[in-house]
Amino acid sequence: MKKKILVGIPRSLAYYSFYPLWRVFIEKLGVQVVISKATNRKILEDGIKETVNDACIPIKVYHGHVFDLADKADFIFSPRMVSADGKATFCPKFLGLPDMVKFSGVDLPPLIDTRYDLSGLPGGQLRFFFSVAHTIGIKNPFKVLYAAVCALRAHKRYNKLQLQGFKPADALQVVFNQKTITELSKEKLTSGASRAKKVVIALLGYPYAIYDPYISAGIYDKLVRLGVEVVTYEQIPLKEMRRFSKVLPQNFFWYYSNQVCWAGLYLLEQKKKIDGIIHVTAFGCGPDSMIDKTLELEAKAAALPFLSLTIDEHTGEGGVWTRLEAFVDMLWAKQVQNKVG
Ligand code: SF4
Repeated sequence: MKKKILVGIPRSLAYYSFYPLWRVFIEKLGVQVVISKATNRKILEDGIKETVNDACIPIKVYHGHVFDLADKADFIFSPRMVSADGKATFCPKFLGLPDMVKFSGVDLPPLIDTRYDLSGLPGGQLRFFFSVAHTIGIKNPFKVLYAAVCALRAHKRYNKLQLQGFKPADALQVVFNQKTITELSKEKLTSGASRAKKVVIALLGYPYAIYDPYISAGIYDKLVRLGVEVVTYEQIPLKEMRRFSKVLPQNFFWYYSNQVCWAGLYLLEQKKKIDGIIHVTAFGCGPDSMIDKTLELEAKAAALPFLSLTIDEHTGEGGVWTRLEAFVDMLWAKQVQNKVG
């Protein structure tokens, strides 16, 4: 029997936003997908070793994930992410990522480094799909079109689940039929997450910083265990967030940075719905230094508690959790005070 081609997808960076799109497309082409392991110490250390020193922590981690796939796949899927909304581009480190990976000095299978760019002429999405299929060696246009339709459907469903408040790991289980929405909702009820929804915190940051439990020290789940209702930018309709592109004198140039910033401004406008903001920033991230300051100043102007947490290669659960607990305790105390007063 003919051996199936294996495409490896690194579980990092844009994976958190696009995995269903990529995986469904590749699988519907009749090609097998393998993903790298969840981030662990080895992946982080391998990434640090082979990446330029001044790269941000998510870029280093991404390299570790690519290396994890080196001997497991025939191709590594590392598209050049340029523009996902036709307007802003991804940050410069994203743009140069396939080149950084290629010249990392590690022996790797061929990269699928197709450009994902929805700016410019219409049909960017289709061009992307056809180019990926061509690199893998699939030429049948009907097969490619069918795979593209299925992939776009899965991507839409994934985004919709996140809008409904499911974090990526849970939404993926639903998209790939490992769990039903009813099962996940029941689990939420028994986990204590929805027992005491009195403190609502906006957890803002790039998906690859927030949802990678290893580099974020599990901030999201820790907050849930503390009885906090967590709001992230994925739960805000894009149309609502986009309103704030007109509020800022100048938008950021970068896709994820705009989403985080607009979400912060949107939630501050709806101040009554949240009790505080936590901004998770990545060490070595240039855009984050501006976003962090913008959010801090806006939160201050709205008299809303704000906590900035920076993740780096030495982030330990202890230090992060102590700060989280202190912040949440302060919000509880504030609420009690407001009730008494
Ligand atoms: S936006 Fe920041 S954290 Fe993300 S890849 Fe670029 S530099 Fe790194």
